[in-house]
Amino acid sequence: MKLLTFVTTDDPAPRAGVLLGNEVVDLAELGARTGADLPTDALAYVRDPALLERAREVAADVPADLRHDLDAVTLRAPLRPGKIIGVGLNYVEHVDESARTLDTDKDLPTRPVLFSKPGTAVIGPEEAIRHNAALTSQLDWEVELAVVIGRTAFQVSREQALDHVFGYAITNDISARDQRRSGQWFFSKGQDSYAPFGPWIVTADEITDPQTLDLSLRVNGEVKQKSNTRHMLFPIAELIADIATGMTLEPGDVIATGSPAGVGAAQTPPQYLQPGDRVELEIEQIGRLANPVVAVQ
Ligand code: MG
Repeated sequence: MKLLTFVTTDDPAPRAGVLLGNEVVDLAELGARTGADLPTDALAYVRDPALLERAREVAADVPADLRHDLDAVTLRAPLRPGKIIGVGLNYVEHVDESARTLDTDKDLPTRPVLFSKPGTAVIGPEEAIRHNAALTSQLDWEVELAVVIGRTAFQVSREQALDHVFGYAITNDISARDQRRSGQWFFSKGQDSYAPFGPWIVTADEITDPQTLDLSLRVNGEVKQKSNTRHMLFPIAELIADIATGMTLEPGDVIATGSPAGVGAAQTPPQYLQPGDRVELEIEQIGRLANPVVAVQ
């Protein structure tokens, strides 16, 4: 199932929906029609497997008048994560290019390199990535597989870790490279709009193997990143188990699993996002997430 959040031109209130083919179904509307109690908040379905199952059942047979054309609605970020945990340096070639062009170590990390981004950084498909020239002239991109937690995880084994995953989405780990402060990435990566997230969450049962997905990123149509999640240094199960050694992962939390090579800082010469650019990310079995870069003050 593809769980999403959308608004319509008639109603600015965000609503949970599912994608069926090229059509969006409003879950609360469908619930009202069928007598099933289905909430408007997408996070409720992440938290409660029984609710998701109920939604799945009623979505199997949706009357034509409850189907909205995907192009006729506006998608928002599928949910606002309680916390976003970023993983730095999780693809070998990116470790190498970062050591050449940024201030990171050339040795492969022996444990996951973790940082965080606040919920206020999240934007949805087609929302503007803020380019504030007063703060940065090095706005950079990173395509990453986003893991959405469904079941609370604390001190879980690597073998059990994936049982805590609700589903998968795409995120762009935007950075202002010139706002790293004494090695801290929070302000560099945590500013408003620096976490495009979406376009929907594909539930884990629909992803054959999250460690075999092609992922790519284009800027203005030109391919900058192209890799596969099999090249992660620390696979998803290991990331979850490691984080949960000391930190509770809750439903709706997101792990941004790291970027492959091909970031702007490592281009020759370095290339950064400019107002008017369009960044398009794609991950196999999930879809496409695109955002424009817009000048702000
Ligand atoms: Mg990253």
